[in-house]
Amino acid sequence: MFEIIFLGTSASAPSVRRGLSAQVIQHNEYRFLVDCGEGTQRQILQSGIGFKRLNQILITHGHLDHILGLAGLLSTYMRWEAIDCLDIYGGRSALDRIHDLLFNIVLWGAKPPIPIELHELKPGLFFEVDDFSISAFPVSHRGSDNFGYLFEEHSRRAFLPEKADALNIPPGPVRRELVAGSPVKMPDGRMIQPEEVLGPLTPGIRLAHVGDSGDTTSLVEYVKGVDALVIEATYLEEEADMAKEFAHLTARQAAELAQTAGVNKLILTHISRRYREKDVLAEAASVFPNVFIARDLDVYQIKRVDVSDVP
Ligand SMILES: [Zn+2]
Ligand SMILES: [Zn+2]
Repeated sequence: MFEIIFLGTSASAPSVRRGLSAQVIQHNEYRFLVDCGEGTQRQILQSGIGFKRLNQILITHGHLDHILGLAGLLSTYMRWEAIDCLDIYGGRSALDRIHDLLFNIVLWGAKPPIPIELHELKPGLFFEVDDFSISAFPVSHRGSDNFGYLFEEHSRRAFLPEKADALNIPPGPVRRELVAGSPVKMPDGRMIQPEEVLGPLTPGIRLAHVGDSGDTTSLVEYVKGVDALVIEATYLEEEADMAKEFAHLTARQAAELAQTAGVNKLILTHISRRYREKDVLAEAASVFPNVFIARDLDVYQIKRVDVSDVP
C-alpha cells in the first residue's frame, strides 16, 4: 500500500485554502517528499506527520512554486539536526537552481552541517528496496529535464499455509526459504518447489505522480494501468489556449489521459485560484468518473482493493 499526503495543492501562487506544491508519499517506513513549495514546513506541522525520516526529496521540475520551500526546510534542519543527510533527486536544470538556492543563499558559503546530496536523474529506475521501487519518466513542461515518478510495489505470490501444512512442512526457516523462491530438501529426502506452497503472482500496487505537464501523449506508456495517477489540472477547457501557452493541462486533458491509460483512480492537484473546485471536478468527471480533487492535508491510501471504489 502507498499513502499520499497532500501538503500543498495550489498552482503557481498560494490561495487562502491551498499551499504550494508538496506531497509526501509513504510506503512502510519509507517516506518521500515530492516537491517542496514555499510554506511546506508549516504544512508538515499541520499534517502531524513530523520531520523524522523526511530527508528524501523528489523534485518534478525547477519552477519556484515547487522548490522554494527547500530553503526554509534546510534552514530548519540545520538548526534541529533532526536528520543525518538530505537527498534531493531531480533533473539537471532543477538541481542547478536548487544548488544555487541552498548553497549560495541558505548556506551563503558556509559548510553544510549535514551532507546534502543532489542526485541527477535520468529516465528509469533510481530507487529500489525489498518490496518496491521508484522510476523517473520524462514529462514535457516549460524547461528541460522534468520528471514524473512511478512508485511500484514488486509483484509477489502469497504463501498458502494450508498447502504447507498438507505437505508436512514445519513453520520456520524452511517456509521462509520457499517464500523467498528457493526449493528446499526435506529431511525425508523430498524436494519441495516454491510453487507448491505459493499462490498465483499478484501484481503490486502502482502509483504515478506527474507534476506540471504540457502534454499527455507521451505519458500514456508510463502511467498505463496504474492504481492511482496524481497529476496537475491547472486550467479548464474554456482557457485551453492559455493552458497550451504555459504548458499546463486542463482538467479534461488530465481525465482523458486517465481514461486512455486505463488508470483506476485519478487525483487532480495544482489547482488554480481562478476556478471553483466543483467546476474542475465536473469537467474531469464528465470524462473519467473516478476522479478526486486533492485538498491540502488530504490523505489517500492506494491499495489493491479500494473500498471507496466499491459501489
Ligand atoms: Zn507549478
Ligand atoms: Zn511549472
